[in-house]
Amino acid sequence: MTALNERGEIVIIGAGLIGLSLAFELRRRGARVAVFDRFEPAKAASWAAAGMLAARTEEIADEPMRVLCNDALENFPAFVDAVREASAVDPQLRRDGIVQAAFDDASLERLQARARALAAEGVGHTLLDAREALQLEPALASTVRGALLTHDEGSVDNRLLGRALLAALARMHVQVATSEEIELEFDARRVCGVRTRWGFRPAEIVVNAAGAWAPHLAGVPDECRPPVEPVKGEMLALAMPHDFVRHTMWLGGCYVVPRTDGRLLVGATGERVGFDHRITAGGQRQLLDRVLAGAPSLAGFSLVEQWSGLRPGTPDERPILGRTPRDGYLLATGHYRNGVLLCARTAELLADEIERGTPIDPAFSLARFSNNEAAVGA
Ligand SMILES: Cc1cc2nc3c(=O)[nH]c(=O)nc-3n(C[C@H](O)[C@H](O)[C@H](O)COP(=O)(O)OP(=O)(O)OC[C@H]3O[C@@H](n4cnc5c(N)ncnc54)[C@H](O)[C@@H]3O)c2cc1C
Repeated sequence: MTALNERGEIVIIGAGLIGLSLAFELRRRGARVAVFDRFEPAKAASWAAAGMLAARTEEIADEPMRVLCNDALENFPAFVDAVREASAVDPQLRRDGIVQAAFDDASLERLQARARALAAEGVGHTLLDAREALQLEPALASTVRGALLTHDEGSVDNRLLGRALLAALARMHVQVATSEEIELEFDARRVCGVRTRWGFRPAEIVVNAAGAWAPHLAGVPDECRPPVEPVKGEMLALAMPHDFVRHTMWLGGCYVVPRTDGRLLVGATGERVGFDHRITAGGQRQLLDRVLAGAPSLAGFSLVEQWSGLRPGTPDERPILGRTPRDGYLLATGHYRNGVLLCARTAELLADEIERGTPIDPAFSLARFSNNEAAVGA
C-alpha cells in the first residue's frame, strides 16, 4: 500500500473536534491534509459541549457503542498529550472521576446495581453512603442518599482542545480555511474533489465531518447522505469559588462540570427542533430547577454564560464512520452526545481505514441503514 505522504491530498469538510482530530492524526502519519469549514472553525457543537468523558456513566447498553466509548476513554490521555506537545496549549484533561448522586430509593438502588455491573467489568469505582458523598462534594443537597464515583472518567476543556488542535495544525502546516461556498464533485464512481471560493481542489479522499449539517453538503449523491439530525442542547455557566464543586457530577436530570477557570458548567437540555439554536426561558429554567434541586448552595452564584449547540444525532445513536457507496468519500459524523469523548478514537479508526484499508466495525457503517431509507435529502 502506498505511503500516505506519497498519496493525493485528503480534504476534510468540517472543522469541529472530529474533523480537526482526524486532520491531526493523518498529518502525524505523513498525509497531505486540508480542512474546510463554512464558518469559524471549532465553534459549533464542539465549542458548545461540556467536555465530559463519561463512557461509564452514560451506561451505554448498545454493545458496539459501549466498546467504542470505552476504547475512546482509554485512548484519550495519549491523544491529549500529543496535542499538548504539538501545540503548547493545555486542554486541561481531568481524570478524577465522575460522581453520580442519588436522592431517592429508586435511584440509590440503580446506583448499587450499576456498581455491581462495574465490578463485574473490572472498572474502578467507589460506592459512597450519604455522609461520604457529602464529604466528597459538600455542595450536594443534604437529602442525598448516596453516590457512585467512577475512577477513570473526567472531562476535558473542549474549547481549549479545539484551540490546541488549531494551533497544532498551524504548526504542522495544515490549512484550515473558511469558505462559505463548498461543493463536492463526484464522477459516476468516486469523489473527485471540492470546489471552494478559491476554485476546484482535487482530492484523493474527502471526509465529511460536518456534524449536524453532514446530510446537507452540496454536490453529494443522495445515496451517500447520512441520516443525521440536529439535537439542540442548552447550557449555562455559574461563577463559583475555587473547588466549590470538585468533580463532574450527574445530579438526576442535569450535570455539572467544574472548569479550572472558575466556571461551573450546567447542562444540558435535549430537543429535536431542527436548526433552531435559540436559548430559551424554558430551557434555562429546566437547567436551573434541576441543578438547584441537587445542589441548592449554588443559588447565590452569578450566572455568567448561557449558550446552546446542535448535537449530530442518528436514528440509533451510533456515529456513522467510514465508507460510502462512492470511492474516496468517507463519513465521520453522528457522534451525538459523545463526540468529544470519541474524537481521538474516531480519528484513529478513520486514519487506519485511509492509510491501511483497515475496515471499521460495520455497526458504524452508513450501510446499516438498509436501503438508505433513513437517508436525509439535501
Ligand atoms: C450542549 C452540548 C453538550 C455536549 N456535551 C458533551 C460532552 O460532555 N461530552 C461529549 O463527548 N460530547 C458532548 N457533546 C457532543 C459533542 O459536542 C458533539 O458530538 C461533537 O462536538 C461533534 O463534533 P463534530 O466535529 O462532528 O461537529 P461540530 O463541532 O458541530 O462541527 C461541525 C463543523 O462542520 C461545519 N460545517 C457545517 N456545514 C458545513 C458545510 N456545508 N461545509 C463546511 N463545513 C460545514 C460547521 O460549521 C462546524 O464547524 C455535547 C453537545 C452539546 C450540543
